[in-house]
Amino acid sequence: MIWIRIKYRLNLIFKTILFHSGFKKRLLKNQYGERILVFHGIDKLGETKYNSRFISRDFFEKFIKYISSHYNIVSLDEYYQKKFKPNTLNIALTFDDGYLNNYKYAVPILKKYNIPASFYITTIHKKASYIFNDFIDLVSYHSSKNKLFFDNSIYKKNAKNEFICNGMSLKKEIKALPYKKVELLYKTLEQNWLDLKPASIEDYWKLMSVKQLKELAKNPLFTIGAHGETHASLIDIHMEDAKKEISNSKEFLETILNQPIDEFAFPFGSYNNELGDYCEKLGFKKVLLVDYNTELDKKIASYRNRFVMNPYISFDMQLVYLLKGTYF
Ligand SMILES: [Zn+2]
Repeated sequence: MIWIRIKYRLNLIFKTILFHSGFKKRLLKNQYGERILVFHGIDKLGETKYNSRFISRDFFEKFIKYISSHYNIVSLDEYYQKKFKPNTLNIALTFDDGYLNNYKYAVPILKKYNIPASFYITTIHKKASYIFNDFIDLVSYHSSKNKLFFDNSIYKKNAKNEFICNGMSLKKEIKALPYKKVELLYKTLEQNWLDLKPASIEDYWKLMSVKQLKELAKNPLFTIGAHGETHASLIDIHMEDAKKEISNSKEFLETILNQPIDEFAFPFGSYNNELGDYCEKLGFKKVLLVDYNTELDKKIASYRNRFVMNPYISFDMQLVYLLKGTYF
């Protein structure tokens, strides 16, 4: 893991130097191929202090303007049908998690440039008004608490504002906990959360309402897919619970939107074939991953891998890596 990070850092430095020493044209040379991009949150300033999920509205618009004038943007349907243009990069856009900030900042830009996109919604609405990953990121960052007692363990805050116990961060641990336990976090940290005045930082946690989802679903530019119910990592919880996460999120969306939901994106890109098969059995035609687990998985008709946007690099470097199709 450390070696991969060092390799990535060195590669980034090398590419940045090349870019600024006359190789810009070569690095941005048009590539053939296809990419599905993953965005999460869009905010006003591109805040990176909480996590790696937010890029700024201005960056987003500049990026959309650039890729729509230099490459071919397709809908996810067209992507699956391979309706690609030759001699260029064919790009489909996806947004994970279902943030209100997508509706506030990204959707007006997508409409302005007439860009299709697919939104994968965490359907936690009946259980909580946020995803616990965001809850813990925000509370960890802002709370003055240095210790936290949770689930019979003592967590201590490190220099990166993460609560750690036995070398494991709470933000990583909650991905794999049963939701009943995750819910207890609210009770433990309720006062810290309220002290944050959550409404003032809603861009970092608030999810789209049912009304907003209905509005998006009606727009022919956009499609809505499921992304689980609680944003647990589905390969790390009990299989039965994971299957419920998948079926409940489908059912919730089909009920509120009154249309079939046939796209599913795995939270954190964590999947296995039993869950992939289950998605197909439920009627999902498009199953979105991040990386394929195996070479064989590339042949599965419903599976597609995706390229995750990186808020820690410059606009130029984001383009360079997009063209390359990988950060490594
Ligand atoms: Zn997600």
